[in-house]
Amino acid sequence: MQGVGFRPFVYRLARRHGLTGWVCNSSGGVIIEAEGSDEELNLFISAIRGEAPPLAMITGVETSEIHLVADDGFVIRESAAGGKSIEISPDWDVCPDCLRELFHKDDRRFGYPFITCTNCGPRYSIITGTPYDRPLTTMAPFVMCPVCQGEYDDPADRRFHAQPNGCPVCGPRLTLTDASGATIAGDPVATAVRLLTAGKILAVKGTGGYHLAVDSANDMAVRELRRRKQRDEKPFALMAPGLVETRRFALPDQREERFMASPERPIVLLRKREESSLSPAIAPANGYYGVMLPSTPLQHLLLRGNFWALVMTSGNLSDEPIAFHDEEARRRLEGVADLFLTHDRAIRTRLDDSIIRVFQGNPLFLRRSRGYAPRAVALPVGQRSVLAVGAELKGAICLTRDDRAFLSQHVGDLKNPETLASLEETAAHLASLLEIRPELVAHDLHPDYLSTRWALSMDNLPKMGVQHHHAHLAACMAENGLEGEVIGVIFDGTGYGSDGTVWGGEFLVGGYDIFRRAGHLRQVPLPGGDAAVREPFRMALAWLREAFGPEAFDLPLPFITSLAEGERKLFDKMIQRGLNSPLTSSCGRLFDAVAALLGIRSSVTYEGQAAIELEGMAERGAERAVFPFEIAHAGATASLILDMAPTVRALTEAVLAGDGWADLARAFHLTLATATAELCATIREESGLNRVVLSGGVFQNRLLAAGVHDLLSARNFQVFTHRLVPPNDGGVALGQAIIAGRSRICA
Ligand code: ZN
Ligand code: ZN
Ligand code: FE
Repeated sequence: MQGVGFRPFVYRLARRHGLTGWVCNSSGGVIIEAEGSDEELNLFISAIRGEAPPLAMITGVETSEIHLVADDGFVIRESAAGGKSIEISPDWDVCPDCLRELFHKDDRRFGYPFITCTNCGPRYSIITGTPYDRPLTTMAPFVMCPVCQGEYDDPADRRFHAQPNGCPVCGPRLTLTDASGATIAGDPVATAVRLLTAGKILAVKGTGGYHLAVDSANDMAVRELRRRKQRDEKPFALMAPGLVETRRFALPDQREERFMASPERPIVLLRKREESSLSPAIAPANGYYGVMLPSTPLQHLLLRGNFWALVMTSGNLSDEPIAFHDEEARRRLEGVADLFLTHDRAIRTRLDDSIIRVFQGNPLFLRRSRGYAPRAVALPVGQRSVLAVGAELKGAICLTRDDRAFLSQHVGDLKNPETLASLEETAAHLASLLEIRPELVAHDLHPDYLSTRWALSMDNLPKMGVQHHHAHLAACMAENGLEGEVIGVIFDGTGYGSDGTVWGGEFLVGGYDIFRRAGHLRQVPLPGGDAAVREPFRMALAWLREAFGPEAFDLPLPFITSLAEGERKLFDKMIQRGLNSPLTSSCGRLFDAVAALLGIRSSVTYEGQAAIELEGMAERGAERAVFPFEIAHAGATASLILDMAPTVRALTEAVLAGDGWADLARAFHLTLATATAELCATIREESGLNRVVLSGGVFQNRLLAAGVHDLLSARNFQVFTHRLVPPNDGGVALGQAIIAGRSRICA
């Protein structure tokens, strides 16, 4: 990987062991030629693995003996690295060495918010072209002072060839302005801290864009931010100075703390403490806080010793992408931020914060971006170069080169031309940085996705449509290095089926080349189409109609009794006749229906809200017996049907009998997990397949994922989940890329 300080590390190591020779990058990796005593060479080789710089990832070391050449020193040779091996490093947190200098009074970079070295700091976000060299980063306009240049030129220095190197004399500078853009005099950090403490809203430039910050303990300020951002209920992320402070308001376990403190610095979802002094408006009706630790020197300076935590939410209005250009940020955040803490080092690539939950000790990505993108996923074998454009929600592209798949950062929901433009720009920039010329374009089958339309508009390349859930299956297979055929349990909100209907609760059998639909959730009408996504009570009506027949509308449930007689008739007619009510086997919509039945909410303000709150409720519930379900054979298609209508019926009766909602929510999760394992066992009988991959956005639900995982394992299935890419649609492009790359479509 470029810019991770590997060659200087080798140089210093060789000098320490008195070796002569050279080190250089090649298309196959780093080549080292070293000459010295056996003993020193052995120490050298073991230290290469043992002491490698934090950003370098060593995948293998091979050694062989050559004739002596008697060099008279050790040098770093300029590389002639071709495009074949180029990888771009993600952006990483400040390293411990730089952090020490940042807070050391006598250091020349004391309090300097742009401190960095070869082991840390911005990379992907500032790279404008390749090779990775200062003129091709956004540091290009800054000319190093003699002291910085000395560090940069000295192979023994920690800052040897550290492209973003700078200091207060020669590097980027901070400015604090008011909303109108007028500079506020004085120390920008100290003044910003003072005004934040007074309840002001600060826009602050981060690695991949602007954040909006307020004091998390100031309820008025947090509510004001919600009002100005026009964001009703979606939780705000928090940034805490350290783990000690985090433990005051959240309950991280050891593994969660390890991910928080990792140099990738993702937002980690942590269980809330019952009592804390944080504003209740941060994550209303949610059992979790999304918490990250500082990842830029500026954030370290703002947080340390000043706050328990700051709200650090992306600098945008609801549903817009995060602002990352200075002018754009000022324009778009006018009226939201009182102050702007900004600087003169440009951001080349927009990056949101990554969001993970920890599942079985591994990251479960809800969003993969800063710190991880554009790190490669290793494919089982090499393949043709493909550009995969993803789906619609959580857009991301994937480019492949040989046996590497580069999944881009999260770009956003492709519901408008701006986000599509951002996706196109991401594809072009990454292809140019990685020197990839795709031979084939892969896209979703949905004809109306903006990504599909874009793919189809590329005249010069052959295209391949990939079924949505097949792509989910392939993505999970690819990151686990699987070959052959597997059973894929793919649970998500929506995907375009091979038969033109809306799929989303799928049991597939297949591999990269072909698949078949071995089973699926019973289809129900989606009353009002998209309106049913925003209003989960419509899904509850649809499922109740399946479970109870026409009597469903007489049930004494609040969301039914509150409907006027005419509305009830209208919904009945819609559902009965399928008026504006396409059929769906969506698992996400089943969760919506159950959430509405349990009175959690009848409408939502963000995607997945009902399911998230249902899981939160279920976590507090006690064990009780699972509900009934049925597995039926569908006549003509030979698919198995998982019928959850008996579940909905039994659950509704329990609700009407006054049983505890949390217990019912838990039992619903366990019922679905049990039914899933049962159906997989039926598929195994007939297919002989024993490996199961779990994918789709519903598997962001840890309770369900754990339940399915445990029940399948108990039946001796081998179960595979996602650890490198999101199970949601943010990972679909990876699956599309491997399916297309291995297909026989001619270039
Ligand atoms: Zn550093
Ligand atoms: Zn300098
Ligand atoms: Fe999906």
